[in-house]
Amino acid sequence: MQICKIEKIVTHSKLHKTFFFDLRMNAKPGQFIMLWIPGIDEIPMSLSHIGDKIGITVEKVGEATKALHKMKEGNKVGVRGPYGKGFEIVGKKALFVAGGTGIAPLFSLIKKYNGEKHIVLGAKTKDLLLFKKELEESNHLYISTDDGSHGYKGFASDLAKKIIEKENFDIVYTCGPEPMMKKILDLCLEKNIPMQASLERYMKCGVGICDSCAIDGYHVCKDGPVFSHEVLKKIKDFGKWWRNASGRKESITI
Ligand SMILES: Cc1cc2nc3c(=O)[nH]c(=O)nc-3n(C[C@H](O)[C@H](O)[C@H](O)COP(=O)(O)OP(=O)(O)OC[C@H]3O[C@@H](n4cnc5c(N)ncnc54)[C@H](O)[C@@H]3O)c2cc1C
Repeated sequence: MQICKIEKIVTHSKLHKTFFFDLRMNAKPGQFIMLWIPGIDEIPMSLSHIGDKIGITVEKVGEATKALHKMKEGNKVGVRGPYGKGFEIVGKKALFVAGGTGIAPLFSLIKKYNGEKHIVLGAKTKDLLLFKKELEESNHLYISTDDGSHGYKGFASDLAKKIIEKENFDIVYTCGPEPMMKKILDLCLEKNIPMQASLERYMKCGVGICDSCAIDGYHVCKDGPVFSHEVLKKIKDFGKWWRNASGRKESITI
């Protein structure tokens, strides 16, 4: 583990902040780090920013993320990684489908992807749309909000379906709530478009030992978190079940 300093904090919404660390890392978009928040917990986080400095974009949901949101520039944290399998760059025209904080791992991928980029950015409400300004600069950006406060009213997956009906894509990349990603998988299988999705499961070790993130024989931390449609179509739990902190299976709801 490397101990590093929080160099810069950017506040995006009442729930989201990006934390930049004084740490360089040779990582691939879609890979993740295990972030130790001293005295609290160690949690998995995708890299939203890869380059001179690494950055993570964090939604405040529970104990560890709330504690992180209270930290200040100059405070110290621990970082292990990068871990897991990231996204593979495929083709020359891609559709990116992000639901909520799911834009985090896709943001570094979008920056790296050299071809034509179409992005569906979805959130519950207008205030929770992340990186809108940066994304609209050089891409085809489509917005959806569940409450209709900005852009298309409805789920990102429904808007993505409309775009897929009109345009041809070499690949679809997605990250967000699992029911959304399951809909994208089914659509891509039906249309015969390759797809890759970044999954979330409860993680403790991050390196394939503890089994917390086991899903139908795969470890999300080691075999994923990014999986291709070929693997996802075989995972029966995808979009249906996940395991909580004690390892008990719980149904996934939106
Ligand atoms: C590979 C990977 C990459 C991730 N990248 C990001 C990221 O870029 N940005 C980000 O904000 N979050 C990301 N997460 C999720 C993040 O790790 C969890 O939100 C965090 O661990 C919650 O910790 P907590 O102590 O704040 O919440 P807890 O107190 O542990 O939990 C609060 C609530 O969130 C739920 N929860 C906790 N962890 C998860 C999870 N993994 N999946 C679904 N629900 C969960 C719990 O069931 C509970 O209801 C990622 C997770 C994985 C596995």
